[in-house]
Amino acid sequence: METTLKECPVCRSKASCFPESQHDSVFYDCPVCGRYEFTLNGFRIQHNSHLASYLYYNRFKGGLMHPEYRYHTTMKKELCDTYKRNFEDGDITNGHPVHVDDDIINNWYPKSFSERIDFILLRISSLAKHIGQPVKFDNQEMFSLLFVDRKELLDDSAFPQKDGPTWREDKDCILEADYVLDYLKESGYVKDYLHLRSETGVELTLTPKGYARVDELQKNTSYGRNVLVAMKFGEDTLTLREAIRKGVDDAGYHAVFIDEVEHIDFITPELLKHIRDSKFVVVDLTHQNNGAYFEEGYAMGLGKPVIQLCRDGVKLHFDIAQKNTIMWKTEDDIPVKLTNRIKATID
Ligand SMILES: [Zn+2]
Repeated sequence: METTLKECPVCRSKASCFPESQHDSVFYDCPVCGRYEFTLNGFRIQHNSHLASYLYYNRFKGGLMHPEYRYHTTMKKELCDTYKRNFEDGDITNGHPVHVDDDIINNWYPKSFSERIDFILLRISSLAKHIGQPVKFDNQEMFSLLFVDRKELLDDSAFPQKDGPTWREDKDCILEADYVLDYLKESGYVKDYLHLRSETGVELTLTPKGYARVDELQKNTSYGRNVLVAMKFGEDTLTLREAIRKGVDDAGYHAVFIDEVEHIDFITPELLKHIRDSKFVVVDLTHQNNGAYFEEGYAMGLGKPVIQLCRDGVKLHFDIAQKNTIMWKTEDDIPVKLTNRIKATID
């Protein structure tokens, strides 16, 4: 495949570009945004001013030691699912696509200034290999980290634009970045930063107060998009699993099935960690297995919202029978009901 070095259409860094005529798509590998693909039908999403931060915070970066097959793509969800299944079956031709659209981006995007600050602190902490280690960000990385919009916000009527998005002037972006950096410094979360020059970005070090905030956030995290699903696993529940996955995905979250993450038969610290890291938990009680009841109880103890599902006709344990439950007759009922419930009770 022919590679050229081009300006990343999301963040303006120099990125490797692979035109792929077969799928009418262009693939980029950007040092800031990671691996992603734009397809023709995804043209509109390039204008989403939150895309740069979304890709930066969720990026897939290749490396020599760990080949990376995942990439963000604007291809249609159905095609994405097919490629993903092929990949899981061992056919790596199309890699492991991860669907992205406006709903997913907007669901993820921090809803307030303080939430932005929390995302930034968590990110700096995850990038620092050792406590107190300064982390360097070049200019474009800094803008994405600090949620500085690269493009002018436009109202919907302006789409589609012939000339592509309107980039904000660098000096405006820097002004906004400085505003956030000043706040981080004045609130005592980062050490006096070294803001050398616009071209060279910034170097940030968390203070003990910054780490204390990170600890607090990690304890009761509701910041990821991950959602643990507790249910009976096995051949007989594959349809149920996919129906739940679709319902969670369509609401803009990511369903985590513990058996896909690791092979376990019992409750492990990893499982508990996945529950703690979930914004909420989905439990299907149809098969009345102890694991699902346990996981629900643990999540409830942590104050996490729990969404219960159960096949119509199955009698629930009395402790949780009063709890509002999505009753389903066939698996086809699940995706829409589950998506609606998430949107009504979580978002
Ligand atoms: Zn980029």
